[in-house]
Amino acid sequence: MVIIPGFGITLSLGALLLSSVSTSSQAKPAKPRPTQADTSYQQAKKDLPNNMYVLYRVIDRVSRANDLDQRPWRIVLVPKYQLNAFADEANLIAVYTGIIDQLAGDSSALACIVGHEMGHHTKRHIAINSEQQLALFEQAKLEVEQESRDAETQANVEDTTNNVIRNVGNNVLGNIDDNLLRNVGGSIFGGIFGGRSRSATERQQEIVAKKEAELADRIAAATRIQEYEADQQGYLYAARAGFEPEGCIRAMNVLNQLPGTTRDTSHPAVPKRIEALRTMMKKNPPQALAAEGKSKIAASKPLTYDRSEDGVSLRINSRNGGSFQDDLERQFGQ
Ligand SMILES: [Zn+2]
Repeated sequence: MVIIPGFGITLSLGALLLSSVSTSSQAKPAKPRPTQADTSYQQAKKDLPNNMYVLYRVIDRVSRANDLDQRPWRIVLVPKYQLNAFADEANLIAVYTGIIDQLAGDSSALACIVGHEMGHHTKRHIAINSEQQLALFEQAKLEVEQESRDAETQANVEDTTNNVIRNVGNNVLGNIDDNLLRNVGGSIFGGIFGGRSRSATERQQEIVAKKEAELADRIAAATRIQEYEADQQGYLYAARAGFEPEGCIRAMNVLNQLPGTTRDTSHPAVPKRIEALRTMMKKNPPQALAAEGKSKIAASKPLTYDRSEDGVSLRINSRNGGSFQDDLERQFGQ
């Protein structure tokens, strides 16, 4: 474990209470030796700013309970008051300070949100997303081309028809009486005298606009499926790590206060997400999941962390640590 120079040291209330206990001069019965986990976490609490420490603890626990500690995770705090978090790049989880503030100490709700973002990574949503969007775009492009060709053919047919009608009309005009022409003319010859067929460019623009809207809908529908998947993973991960399953519902209730969250957008409507989570909880009871995770946590050690090479995030190392030097020395000696 390394002290992160850039993160500074934040004295949380917990740390202050801890030091007042340890400096007491009163004779006390011998305390049990702290376990390795205690020592590591106490050090982390001293090293890291409070929110970063919390996120480290959550990710450490979720990773170890779910075998997700075979890869490093990166965590960044975005200093913005937004109720949001997102997954990006390779194993990066960004959490806005706004959501941390609104969750107000509810670590189970936070674990669910972090688990959701981890789920986006483990399900390869970022890679799939770009492939899927490219495929949808290509499909839309083909459809635009096809429909444009059809429209062009249609326009040609209309032009030919209009020409025929114009010719016929001219002939008819010479032979039929004015009353008949007035009654029938509006409909039959409307194309000749009034609204000529719209230009191909106009049609093209309409087709493109329609396809753009359709493409946006298709992309949103695809990302909504991913959001449901990430919600499910978030629940499974948090529950295996022993967090309260209701934390997932509480996290959703925080999001549900935002405008637009009661309808489908790029994310499903929050009430639908809550419903899906409830179904998931029934199918996968939290007690069984927690038991699975507990043995994995007991068999593993707290993860170490370092400042990431990206210069801004905290890298929570895999179970193999994060030091090339240590790894070389372990294999080949000092
Ligand atoms: Zn998501």
